[in-house]
Amino acid sequence: MKKILCLISVFMLIVVLAFSLSSCECKHELQEATCTTPRTCAKCGETFGTTIPHKYERVACGEYMRCKDCGANSNYSISEHLYLGNCGEIGTCYYCDEQSPEILEHTYKGNVHTGVLKCNKCDRQMCAEDIQGKSTKDLTGAERAYIYWHLNHYLTALSSSGKYLYTENEAFQMTATKFNLSVLYLKNDFWGGGDFIDNHDFYAQYYYK
Ligand SMILES: [Zn+2]
Ligand SMILES: [Zn+2]
Ligand SMILES: [Zn+2]
Ligand SMILES: [Zn+2]
Repeated sequence: MKKILCLISVFMLIVVLAFSLSSCECKHELQEATCTTPRTCAKCGETFGTTIPHKYERVACGEYMRCKDCGANSNYSISEHLYLGNCGEIGTCYYCDEQSPEILEHTYKGNVHTGVLKCNKCDRQMCAEDIQGKSTKDLTGAERAYIYWHLNHYLTALSSSGKYLYTENEAFQMTATKFNLSVLYLKNDFWGGGDFIDNHDFYAQYYYK
């Protein structure tokens, strides 16, 4: 009797072992992940990891981009027109041939060492005359960057002996004269933040982009 019990328990053990072996025995046949399903075993359906990103493509100007694999719309990325043409003229959209609503601006890029702001499409250089006679609320971002560079330059210029070349007042006065702006405006609004515009952002944008 004892022997039979022992045989039964050995048999049970074998059965349990065989079962547990067979349950981890599915040799997964993994299908690659797509943008809608993670990697999935074709045999047992078990999934691994996550889905891969959608492959968004342009559909048309002014419309959301769409995934080329599953057709899902991107809900945040609207395709913009890409207007091409000469600076200072109406442009034409590369994709849909529509005319630009406004003339094309120069795309200035600054040299932080020399202060030169140059359009990388037509090579035009910004000059003080562009700004002279403008009202301060009409200053463009590039013009603000240009003024900022000069102000910063005069305020921090050092002589060969390491002393400041200009006093603060002189620096503001020189910038005011160059661009025909008031010292008060430059001190309080432009540099001091009274404009509620952070002109340093424009400086960083045009000179360090
Ligand atoms: Zn499997
Ligand atoms: Zn997709
Ligand atoms: Zn377009
Ligand atoms: Zn240009």
